[in-house]
This record gives sequence, C-alpha cells and structure tokens, in this order.
Amino acid sequence: MIFMYMSHLECPKCGATYDPHKLTQLCACGSPLLVRYDLDKVKANFKKSDLIGA
Ligand SMILES: [Zn+2]
Repeated sequence: MIFMYMSHLECPKCGATYDPHKLTQLCACGSPLLVRYDLDKVKANFKKSDLIGA
C-alpha cells in the first residue's frame, strides 16, 4: 500500500504543506496539491522485502 508512505501534501505554487490525512485537495492559494511520499520509508521497506525474498 503506497498510501502508507504518504508524507504530506505540498502546494507546487506557494510551497505550503498539508496533513495528508485531512484529504485536502486544494491549497489556500487555489492550486491543486501534490502528494509527497516518504522515500526513506519506501526504500527501507523494499530492502526488507528483498532480504525476506532472498
Ligand atoms: Zn498554495
């Protein structure tokens, strides 16, 4: 589940960040928000899976 790795929502226009669990889709400035992922967590999990699979 990729949603487990969601870090925050980010506005590409003004840089404001939002809690991903609030399901906000628009920034206060009116721009759609982008989902940012916690890449460290994603990498750590893939590593773990590789070890278990080996
Ligand atoms: Zn904004």
